[in-house]
Parts: sequence; C-alpha cells; structure tokens
Amino acid sequence: MTDELAAHRDAARQWVVDNVRPAWVEEQYRTGVHQTMELHRLLARDGILGAGWPAAHGGTEVVPEFARALHSEISRFGLAADGWSTTLMVINTINEVGTESQKREYIGGALRGEILIALGYTEPESGSDVAAAKTTAVRNEAGWLINGQKLFTSTAQCCSHVFVLARTNPGVPKHRGLSLFLVRTDDPGFDLRPIHTLGGQQTCATYYSDVQVPDSALIGGVDEGWRVMKVALVHERGSDNLEFVETRVSSDLARWARGPRDSDGTTPLDDPLVAERIGRMAVEEEVARLLALQVRATSERGEPPAVEGAMAKLFRTEAAQRHHSDALDILGADGILAPGAPGAPDAGLFEAGFRSAVVETIRGGSSEILREIIAERRLGLPRTRPRQ
Ligand SMILES: Cc1cc2nc3c(=O)[nH]c(=O)nc-3n(C[C@H](O)[C@H](O)[C@H](O)COP(=O)(O)OP(=O)(O)OC[C@H]3O[C@@H](n4cnc5c(N)ncnc54)[C@H](O)[C@@H]3O)c2cc1C
Repeated sequence: MTDELAAHRDAARQWVVDNVRPAWVEEQYRTGVHQTMELHRLLARDGILGAGWPAAHGGTEVVPEFARALHSEISRFGLAADGWSTTLMVINTINEVGTESQKREYIGGALRGEILIALGYTEPESGSDVAAAKTTAVRNEAGWLINGQKLFTSTAQCCSHVFVLARTNPGVPKHRGLSLFLVRTDDPGFDLRPIHTLGGQQTCATYYSDVQVPDSALIGGVDEGWRVMKVALVHERGSDNLEFVETRVSSDLARWARGPRDSDGTTPLDDPLVAERIGRMAVEEEVARLLALQVRATSERGEPPAVEGAMAKLFRTEAAQRHHSDALDILGADGILAPGAPGAPDAGLFEAGFRSAVVETIRGGSSEILREIIAERRLGLPRTRPRQ
C-alpha cells in the first residue's frame, strides 16, 4: 500500500460516508436485486464509471486507482453492483470488436450511467456448453428477428439491454453459427420473470418473441459469435471484475471472536483452534487477492488473462465456501441465524454469505470447467471433451 493508494482509499471511504446509505444493503438483501440504481447514478454523476476510459468514448479524469478503491469500499459496505460488473464485461468486449459508432453509443451510454447490460448466454438446455444455444436470430429487411429463451439473465430487471447469444446459422457446426446482439429490454416481444436463488440473489428468465433489432445491434460480425464470446468470457473472469469482490470473512470473524466473553472471561479467540482457522482463512484470502492482482498484471501486459482469470475465480470462490463453512462451525447454532433474526452474529451476514458462496462456484463458469481450462492451457493436459 503506497501513500498514494492509501490516500485514494481514504478518499473512497469518505465518498462512501457521504453518499452510501445503509438502507441499500437491506434493500439488496430483501429484494435479491444486486444492483442499486440510485448509487449507480451517483457513480455516473461523479465520473467514477468513466475512470480509465479514453475521453473519446466518454472517459473521465477520475483516476482508475480511486475508482478501484471505491468499488472495493462499496463491496466492503455490503453492496453488490452485478449489473455494472456485467456491463463492464460487455463494453470491454465492444471496445475490442465493435465498430466506432457502437463504441460511441454503447460505451459512452454506459459510462454516463444510461446503459446497463445483462448477459444473455445461458439457456434452459445450455450452460457450460454455452455454444449449444438455441435462441435464433433470422435476418429480415429491418435487421434481425430474435426468438428464444435465456435463463439466469442476472439483473435484467434493471438493465436497459441484454447481450444475447443467438444462432444465426443452423447449418454449420455449433461454434460457427453464433452471433451476439444487444437487445433492448423495452423492445416489444421482450419479457422476463424473476428467479430466486439459494444464495438470496434474484436472477431472471428472459424471453424473446419476434424481437426486432437493427443491424447496428449486431456486435462483432455475423457468425462471429464464438470469437466474440471468447473475448467476453476472458473479461468475465478477468481484471475488470476484481474490484467488485472484497472478501472479509476472516476479519469479520476475528472481530466477532474477540467479542463475547464466557463466565471465565475468555473469548472464542482464546481457543487456539478458532485462532488457527481464522489465520488459515486470512492466508487464503491473501492468496485470492494476489491471484486477482496477477490477473490485472497479465491484462496490463496486454495478454488475455484466460488461465489467470480461471485460477483466480476458482480459488476465490472455493476458498469462500471453505471459509463460510468454517465460520458456521465456529459460530455454532447462532451461525445459522439469517439477517433480520434477533441475535444473529454480524447481523446475519455469515449465514447469508454461506448460502451465497454456494452459488458463486457455478455462475461465471463452474469450478469443473475452470479446472479444465487450467489443466489444458496451463498444464498442457489432454482435452477431456472431443473437439467440435
Ligand atoms: C446466480 C447465478 C447467476 C447467473 N448469472 C448468469 C448471467 O447473468 N448470464 C448468463 O448467461 N448465465 C448466468 N448464470 C448461468 C451460469 O453461467 C451457468 O449456471 C453455468 O455456466 C453452469 O451451467 P448450467 O447451470 O447449465 O450447468 P451445466 O452446464 O448443466 O453443468 C452441470 C454440472 O456439470 C458440470 N459440467 C458441465 N460440463 C462439464 C464438463 N465439460 N466437464 C466437467 N464437468 C462439467 C458442471 O461443472 C456442473 O457441476 C448464472 C448462474 C447462477 C447460478
């Protein structure tokens, strides 16, 4: 932590004190919608969304280090920004494969806080095997007509667009007949239904019935969808997403363990086994942080952090499951008290974190798929699936 970074962190903490409302945390928990639009508008107002982007695309003077520190402080406050996180993946992808006018429209709109984009890849019958998508886009005079259904289109309820993976050519092997479109959520024929998850997060099923989009909504060329997806998936597990995850189980648990005293005056932390388990958590959280920094360093060298991103996501999410499980063990029966329950330790966030950790090893690529990426690309082991 240099003096400069410490100053950014302090300024970020002050911004949080001045602008962020505890009621938003309660609202995200109650509704399961992990995006607070009021906060998003404030981030746009202060130019934070545009930090680090070129001025030509709507970038601002705000330095990326401050924006990163702020996202991290907001996450520590207990607020998620899943809609902005998916938007960043898409605009980074557009920045690589989009036309100049698409960059102006979509990147500019997103940095001004006017455009928020959900990911529409997964379908009822294709998740890990995302290239098996059945949603179709058929060319017509006005552009493209989209029909189909997507599952787990997270934060679609507050997004202006969905980045939809659709089949544009059914007559070729599955990876070669896909294209990506930006569909507006206020287009006629678009519909959604909320899905509640074990983790408390609300995601959505989205439906597309003769949704008409113009040619300009096609991102990256006809039947080029798989190439675009590869770019997008690297961004999903890559550096753009790191600011939004601040793991803090060990420090929360240590704070709790210093608190309640037994009749003999001891605290849970006086138990060497408790102290050791919290110590192990702190070590693993540090490893997760360093893996995340490795992703950023790889990106900053101009290399796609495909393997580094898989390593960082796999380690962070699996460690979080171990940590939350350990936390519930240490807390005993009180640990399963949910937010809102009287006497719940840390306002019930251990219990909520335990459930949410289960989901995190699935979304954004399951652990098995990430292990395959590491095995094949880093360790040079043979593929487990036939080439398509
Ligand atoms: C809370 C949440 C939010 C999500 N948000 C989004 C979103 O915003 N947009 C979006 O498009 N999707 C989203 N997803 C979908 C997510 O990306 C998929 O759930 C994930 O890719 C797994 O796909 P699946 O659920 O179809 O499981 P499947 O692919 O059917 O996998 C089932 C099991 O089989 C294993 N498996 C599958 N293939 C292999 C293989 N080749 N080798 C070894 N094991 C394998 C998997 O690891 C898993 O354990 C979200 C999911 C969740 C739970």
